[in-house]
Amino acid sequence: MNFRTGIGVDVHRLVAGRPMTVGGLFFPDEPAGPEGHSDGDVVAHAACDALLSAAGLGDLGSNYGTDQPQWAGSRGAAFLSETAARVRAAGFDISNIAVQLVGNRPKIGARRAEAEQILSDAAGADVSLAATTTDGLGLTGRGEGIAAIATCLVVRR
Ligand code: MG
Repeated sequence: MNFRTGIGVDVHRLVAGRPMTVGGLFFPDEPAGPEGHSDGDVVAHAACDALLSAAGLGDLGSNYGTDQPQWAGSRGAAFLSETAARVRAAGFDISNIAVQLVGNRPKIGARRAEAEQILSDAAGADVSLAATTTDGLGLTGRGEGIAAIATCLVVRR
């Protein structure tokens, strides 16, 4: 049995005036963006955690912690590219990554293909992106934050 699945979740607080970066895309018309050590791209971060989970390589915090200042401000796509490289170096091929964004904004539908292309290029594997809201409930429903959930499948070589 060489197949392994992984799961990742990420949440960032939204702060007025911060750039809104999600799924490797910048949304210039958004009034708020994710707070974080990096660009706060929850889609890319959840995808990274799913990959690390599948490969048994820990998580984003243990791989790129705030004690490693070289990662401060890094783009989500850069994390995804580096994480995919670490997973491959550990002996795995990446089949696919599926990510669901949870939040009111931004609306990614019109730019889904663009995001999937950027993320797939970064991971070197197929990445699909979907989105949902929480019917006005909870931290994403109130617009206090943005979240993402990801799964992936990797295959041990
Ligand atoms: Mg994060």
